[in-house]
Amino acid sequence: MSSDIEIARRAEINPIQKIAHKLGISDDNLELYGKYKAKLPLSLIDSEKIKNRKLILVSAISPTPAGEGKTTISIGLSEGLNRIGKQATVVLREPSLGPVLGIKGGATGGGHSQVIPMEDINLHFTGDFAAIEKANNLLAALIDNNIQNNGSSLNIDPRTVHWKRVMDMNDRSLRNTIVGLGGTTSGIPRETGFNITAASEIMAILCLAEDFHDLKERIGNIFVGYTFDKKPVFARDLNAQGAMAALLKDAIKPNLVQTLEGNPAIIHGGPFANIAQGTNSVLATKMGLSLSDYVVTEAGFGFDLGAEKFLDIKCASAGIEPQAAVLVATVRALKYHGEVSVAELNSPNVDAVRQGLENLEKHVENMQKFNICPVVAINRFVSDTEEEIQVIVKKCKELGIKVAVADVWAKGGEGAEELATMVAEAAESCTSSMQPLYDWEWSVEKKIETIAKEIYGAKAIDYTAKAKKDLKVVAELGLDNKAVCIAKTQKSLSDNPKLLGRPENFVVTVREIEIAAGAGFIVPITGNIMRMPGLPGKPAAENIDIDDDGVISGLF
Ligand code: ADP
Ligand code: MG
Repeated sequence: MSSDIEIARRAEINPIQKIAHKLGISDDNLELYGKYKAKLPLSLIDSEKIKNRKLILVSAISPTPAGEGKTTISIGLSEGLNRIGKQATVVLREPSLGPVLGIKGGATGGGHSQVIPMEDINLHFTGDFAAIEKANNLLAALIDNNIQNNGSSLNIDPRTVHWKRVMDMNDRSLRNTIVGLGGTTSGIPRETGFNITAASEIMAILCLAEDFHDLKERIGNIFVGYTFDKKPVFARDLNAQGAMAALLKDAIKPNLVQTLEGNPAIIHGGPFANIAQGTNSVLATKMGLSLSDYVVTEAGFGFDLGAEKFLDIKCASAGIEPQAAVLVATVRALKYHGEVSVAELNSPNVDAVRQGLENLEKHVENMQKFNICPVVAINRFVSDTEEEIQVIVKKCKELGIKVAVADVWAKGGEGAEELATMVAEAAESCTSSMQPLYDWEWSVEKKIETIAKEIYGAKAIDYTAKAKKDLKVVAELGLDNKAVCIAKTQKSLSDNPKLLGRPENFVVTVREIEIAAGAGFIVPITGNIMRMPGLPGKPAAENIDIDDDGVISGLF
């Protein structure tokens, strides 16, 4: 089997105009970034058309560390829908350089289910992350300049500033830093640090913004810290929002590329799925829905994290809803939940698959709580045995859930025709509307409790002293009516990564609550969430190369 980059390079790639024509976009509405990438002007979004289109959400059971193939299935499903005569576009997040150069590799699918040009998409793409980084760091510079008292002091207490600088690189040595060293002309020393760009609140904001007006308002609402006399300071107090939004003038526009089979793909934004909403931009999703009958989109991590946020934050904020949802399951992940170690996942073990099914069952129940019609997609790996696959099929049938085996990694869209037919049927026959899990107007505690009990399966919530203090701050700032974006491990339905399968009788501990007032949510933190990852002992970067002809290798 060829590597992903070899398959991607062999594919016949169309000029991006040809892909745009499939969506009815004229050449003068395309902002070209070379031959194979283009930005789409926001004027192409049509709120009337969106209403009659089908949005398909792809999520997964609790994943193994390698990922269960949501992106790969999303792309393959979109190819499959096009094959069965539905006009479909896949709408995805942009890869972050941290994982590309670190451990996980790219985020452009895999095998025969990819978006191209994969080198470009994985490395810088159209510069959106760089623009987000600049906007984020402008605010940091404005804060430190104000603390220096360069003319118009807001009297900011440097010890209360939590806004950090960002960089799109796994670089643990920047996690904690002191800035402002070097004497009176070089700033006031204070302790701060760096996050990876995907963890920037600007990323979350850009991905929820509806237009430039909304973007500026959200940026202005960013909570920076306090003055020495305990008054809250927001980005608007620093007059930051205009310039920051101006730096995002192109980054706000969704990017058009193509799949291996020449179908349209829109790729835009990439917030984390724990401390943020974990899904591509509202504008990209609306763009896709304006231009095609079907949009297939992905939410990060498992259904308990990414999809819950997709539904309760993104959909609730943007006024959209999915007509069907796909739950990706793998034999590997089920074995993992059946207590098989990562090293042993390639060996057949029917009993472990059976034991792991309780994890799938809980995610299916969770989907039904939102009143959405689930379809289970079994992402086939070459190591899977037929017997193992049939265990999953049988369970889904018992539960009365549609199920299809998807072989998109090996076969591309052809491997997803059955899944596509099922998804199209589910979406077209869907008459119910999505029911959010909570109302933003509820108290913060009730919102947290509802998510933890209903979705994670917790029996109770515990707040540390710090978290209780934070709850008061949230109330003082008038942010009780915002969405709740719980940061939790993706490895378990619970907040303890070691509890696999379907944990019960556990208590979720909220350690602290962070504020993303610009994005419009608060973030209860239930574990150790890394916002600036480190590189592994042997980083993926060591395998990446470019030859004398400019041909890149080693991306996967
Ligand atoms: P997710 O979006 O859930 O994180 P991805 O689709 O990015 O997962 O897939 C994670 C990795 O697994 C990628 O390297 C991808 O190529 C690989 N992968 C996905 N599906 C398969 C499969 N069926 N067989 C082999 N490798 C796969
Ligand atoms: Mg993915």
